[in-house]
Amino acid sequence: MRTVETFAEVRALGRGCTGFVPTMGYLHEGHLSLVDAARRECDTVVVSLFVNPLQFGPNEDLASYPRDPERDAALVEAVGADVLFAPPLDVMYKSDPLTTVTVGEVTEGMEGARRPGHFDGVATVVAKLFAGITPDRSYFGRKDAQQLVTVRRMVLDLSFPTVIVGAPIVREADGLALSSRNIYLDPRQREAARSMSRGLFAASVAVAAGERSARELEGIVSAAVEEEAGIDLDYATLADQDTAAPVATLDRPVFLAAAARVGSTRLLDNIHIDQHAGGWVPDVGTRLREPSILYREA
Ligand code: AMP
Repeated sequence: MRTVETFAEVRALGRGCTGFVPTMGYLHEGHLSLVDAARRECDTVVVSLFVNPLQFGPNEDLASYPRDPERDAALVEAVGADVLFAPPLDVMYKSDPLTTVTVGEVTEGMEGARRPGHFDGVATVVAKLFAGITPDRSYFGRKDAQQLVTVRRMVLDLSFPTVIVGAPIVREADGLALSSRNIYLDPRQREAARSMSRGLFAASVAVAAGERSARELEGIVSAAVEEEAGIDLDYATLADQDTAAPVATLDRPVFLAAAARVGSTRLLDNIHIDQHAGGWVPDVGTRLREPSILYREA
């Protein structure tokens, strides 16, 4: 594997179909599942490692965001990436960008409403990465469901010639969705955090039993979280997979998204619900059998 710092070097190393996995580092099995998928489907696998200041609000955790570039490099090399693109800040932003990307409407609710400017930052950095790397296929986790909707919409609107692949959420054995931010949680907070996935699993059981009402499904999630002290639910919303707009009834592909605060840590989770063979089938993602790399480190 080669580690490089410029777009020109990444492009020079591309052979055949290039698969691209953008990350902010502090990698875990969720990220590695994306690299794995790219490895199966592409000739050259490029992983980027860049903590993008543009997508953090002034009171968010940019300064404290966990970083361990050496460990990240070893992990992506072990799963077979060909190129690690780890640009210094001044390679990505030579000066403050005067051109930014705003994706309308799909970014208005949920995370977009709570984190002003966040999706502009995401869309701008992803557009730069697509322009500089020119990947054929780009891999994103369903964990950040509204981000996936936003990126898909940007690619549609601006005609980036890359296929967007959405990959299932990877979870700890106890259900907690993997996130680099889980490292902030102490054991009690982790226990509290688990109530969010518990609520989503209960909602998925209700879907399988025929529940179609957004209000009921959202209520199942909030009830599970409210049972637990030390976690504040921000929202539980049933949203359209194409537009991220709230829906009242399960009558199209959706995700049931939840966001909560545990101490000063903000956590996201969701389940996707798709139609298969005429029925609505919830996808809760996959669970690790053993504690994740992050859990072992905590
Ligand atoms: P991040 O480093 O948090 O920006 O995430 C980089 C990519 O990994 C994004 O596409 C995320 O959606 C994806 N990702 C993060 N956590 C998970 C997870 N638990 N399962 C699957 N994908 C994930």
